[in-house]
Amino acid sequence: MGLPTYTPMDAAVPDGVIVVERATTPQDLGPKLNRTAADVVRFLMQHGEMVTATQSLTDDMIELFCAEIGASIRLVDPGQEQEIELLKLLDVEEDIDDDTYETYPERAPVVTVMGHVDHGKTKLLDQIRNANVVAGEAGGITQHIGAYQVVRDGRAITFIDTPGHEAFTAMRARGADATDIVILVVAADDGVMPQTIEALNHAKAAQVPIVVAINKIDRDQADPQRVMTQLAERGLVPEQWGGDTIMIEVSALQNFGIDDLLDNVLVVADLENLRAPLTGRAQGVVLEAHLDIGRGSVATVLVQKGTLKVGDPLVAGSAWGRVRALINDQGEQIKVAPPSTPVQVLGLSDVAGAGDRFVVAPNEKVGSKVAGIREHWKRVASLARDAHAMAGGAKLEDIFDQIKAGETATLNVVIKADVTGSLEALTDSLRRLERPDVKVAFIHRGVGGITKSDIELAATSNATLIGFNVRPDRNARALAELQKVEIRNYEIIYQVIEDVQNAMLGLLAPVYEEIVTGDAEVREIFSVPRVGRVAGCMVLNGTIGRGSKVRFLRDGTIIWKGEISSLRRGKDDVREVHAGFECGIGLSDFQDLRSGDIIETFDLREVPRS
Ligand code: GDP
Repeated sequence: MGLPTYTPMDAAVPDGVIVVERATTPQDLGPKLNRTAADVVRFLMQHGEMVTATQSLTDDMIELFCAEIGASIRLVDPGQEQEIELLKLLDVEEDIDDDTYETYPERAPVVTVMGHVDHGKTKLLDQIRNANVVAGEAGGITQHIGAYQVVRDGRAITFIDTPGHEAFTAMRARGADATDIVILVVAADDGVMPQTIEALNHAKAAQVPIVVAINKIDRDQADPQRVMTQLAERGLVPEQWGGDTIMIEVSALQNFGIDDLLDNVLVVADLENLRAPLTGRAQGVVLEAHLDIGRGSVATVLVQKGTLKVGDPLVAGSAWGRVRALINDQGEQIKVAPPSTPVQVLGLSDVAGAGDRFVVAPNEKVGSKVAGIREHWKRVASLARDAHAMAGGAKLEDIFDQIKAGETATLNVVIKADVTGSLEALTDSLRRLERPDVKVAFIHRGVGGITKSDIELAATSNATLIGFNVRPDRNARALAELQKVEIRNYEIIYQVIEDVQNAMLGLLAPVYEEIVTGDAEVREIFSVPRVGRVAGCMVLNGTIGRGSKVRFLRDGTIIWKGEISSLRRGKDDVREVHAGFECGIGLSDFQDLRSGDIIETFDLREVPRS
């Protein structure tokens, strides 16, 4: 092809596992592995990948090159390695030995309520809150801040106010295990349903103990025994039957059984021996965060260790600031928040992310430094991602092919909107559509009409241009036609989302299910002139059809998969042969068939993904 040939280089690769950042460039990768950028570029070129020395590489490219030169690597997200250093800077102690743990005071359990939709999670949370929240001296009004604390027999219990396993798993995905106990709500009339099982599996995966609330027992159709049986089948055996799962009958509607439920949550909490240091710099997790017009950045955090105080220099992800005020679930300003307390924090520089860990820094300087470095890496990661996307991403109409190729598909978009508000909302909504296998890369986002430069950018980065309440000018439209850039104009966010969602649904690689349509046993093999080898078979079940997909089984093991090339009854070519008849099956390219083998035909049926 006239390309320079790649000669394996002699230089040894560095020993051990080398950490490589995703989306690195040949320029950075080469020297790490005792190679030059040109070595990387040349090698990839030979494998059909045209990249420049400064262009981001895909995971596949990096792995391909490293495999070639025999280097073992570990791919990490940009900034991930630095995080270890930052934690050192923040002076966060992670491992605590058992003896030290026992010296800590007890802390309130943190409870998440999960279960199937409509089984009464919200109602239960409301009842618990209304009946048990400590009325503040000022007669505080309960505030929905994402979590609340109740007191039962002088002991506190913290409830996370977002029922369901989405929030729970989202937190866990970010490494934040906030929950100590799960209350699994099952409606006694409805029984165990799909989301009950999902919730149960999530709790098990997180190794969080489960207390079952069998709800709606006021209903005529309530059948708690059936619920117990169903749960026992899933490995949750009720205490009443000698198992170790506490199951309490309740009616959230009639406020029945709730005290019993809370008492038992405390029993489980005792078994768990939940403790945390009361002193020292506070640490915990962000439950929820938003921007408030009057108050600025507002974050609800759950303190997990230490005591959070007004004035503390707090870092949460890439947000930081001195705590200006702490507000509890009654809307009251408080000065200190001990472990297991949910509290709103005012004073952060930025909106923290839900699931971000927070820690009080040794001092303001360290705090701002750590947040700054994280912010930097966040930008690097997002730039790398977008650059990466430019190289490997696709337009809305093409993304189907990307997914079919079995890779992570990236939808490249350039967004122009009328005002910043809609731009943010649109970005947010699109981000929320992301899944592990489909990413959205924002090549450019801006306010104002669609210009020639937007078109150029979309063309060079293979992006779809989304206009929200804006239109291209004449020059831009002409260029778009010339460059074949797809411009999609919208006036309602929902329609953008719907379009992208539909595209994603349509572009999902279909999953196929196999349905066996017939099987035949091979009795003898013979050669037929002009046809080749033919298996004389007896159809045992169903129908064998010509052109069917087929697999050959020997002792139940698949030895070959392919298609039937010819099908005969006697001397006649036939389309299909039914059970109980003999036939000759042409084997085309598969030769190693013996008498006694089974030929099975099957159909593939597409299973729609939702
Ligand atoms: P969620 O989707 O699990 O949060 O369920 P909700 O709390 O919204 O409850 C769904 C419906 O069931 C609502 O109409 C509730 O009033 C009703 N509900 C909840 N608990 C009970 C109960 O104990 N008994 C009866 N009869 N209805 C209940």
